[in-house]
Amino acid sequence: MNNIAIIGFGPFSQFFTPYITQNFSDVSVWNRSDKSEEAAKLDVKYVSLDEALSKEVIILSTSISFFEELLKNNAKIINPKAIVFDVASVKMKPVELMLKYLPQTCEIVATHPLFGPQSGKDGIEGKNMVICPIRTTKQICIIDFLANKLKLNVMVRTPEEHDKQMAYVQALTHFVARGVAGIKIPYTDQKTIAFEKLIDVRNLLAGDSDDLFLAIQNDNPFAKSVRLEFLNKLNDLNHDLNLENN
Ligand code: NAP
Repeated sequence: MNNIAIIGFGPFSQFFTPYITQNFSDVSVWNRSDKSEEAAKLDVKYVSLDEALSKEVIILSTSISFFEELLKNNAKIINPKAIVFDVASVKMKPVELMLKYLPQTCEIVATHPLFGPQSGKDGIEGKNMVICPIRTTKQICIIDFLANKLKLNVMVRTPEEHDKQMAYVQALTHFVARGVAGIKIPYTDQKTIAFEKLIDVRNLLAGDSDDLFLAIQNDNPFAKSVRLEFLNKLNDLNHDLNLENN
């Protein structure tokens, strides 16, 4: 793997780039809005989209809502020998789009790092990373790199297995966190551990973009039923409490 391009230089890419540059010297990035200063700070080349898509390794790290437009409009200029990774927080939709639009000769490895700028701010060693080796001959060396160089706990899953579990792990958790963030909780020094953990979850996810939240909820086909099950349970609990209190 001689040259690597990261497509999209948002919060996740900027957080993860140092882990790539520690191990590879030729790293380029492209972003929709100008992020050349951020690229210079992280010592990576800021290139055009055409140049980025000509690299041997292409890491798609934009919001999921842009995947289809990106792949559809640029299928002809993507290096047909590239190995294409994504890091999206859902897996079925991006994999479907990569299979639909990428040249047949591209290798495809879908990934989901189960950490981000907040949860990984003190380092990523031991953190979970899901990979879905969709079409690749390099699975062994990719897992070796992630597990032995980055010291991640690598989990191989199908896109469907990933999304089914993420409906609880992410869709439910982020839904609760946004709900808690939406109500004004007055300051208190009378804290319990459970209360502190709830506030921690809210704070941990507060920096996520709206695009990321929407993708976790709307692009995971299993998320809606989990949210509804949870809302119904809350309604039932409230109903039972009202009956008891009357
Ligand atoms: P994000 O809001 O999901 O993505 C931001 C990036 O997408 C920016 O580079 C933004 O460009 C670009 N973008 C958005 N709409 C675009 C469009 N229409 N055309 C071109 N570019 C567009 O935030 P993120 O946290 O950096 O996530 C990036 C990827 O990492 C996502 O696939 C996400 O699921 C995944 N991920 C995130 C985390 C996390 O904790 N943040 C963890 C694991 C995986 P501009 O700067 O120009 O707006």
